[in-house]
Amino acid sequence: MSRDSSHPPADRRLAATQGLERLLLRAGVGVLAADRARCCDCGRTPLIGEEVHLYERGAVVCELCRPLRVAAPASTERVRHSEYGQTVRLRRAA
Ligand SMILES: [Zn+2]
Repeated sequence: MSRDSSHPPADRRLAATQGLERLLLRAGVGVLAADRARCCDCGRTPLIGEEVHLYERGAVVCELCRPLRVAAPASTERVRHSEYGQTVRLRRAA
């Protein structure tokens, strides 16, 4: 029985494939996490349809943490699904 040295054994190829899948999954999760806005007070990611309050310097505060702040927000927006563009953007108050 001769072994072909140009092809690694099946178990090694499987391990390399699983390593690649894991790497791609981590990269994808990192991209998704980078896109999401998080509440600067509790760190929670607001849910789609939830209102978030935007303060100066880009601070995003969720509905649950809003009553804990005395200052009024610069604006309030509803979190939209990512297919409509990114979730929350800070805009100047009219
Ligand atoms: Zn919060």
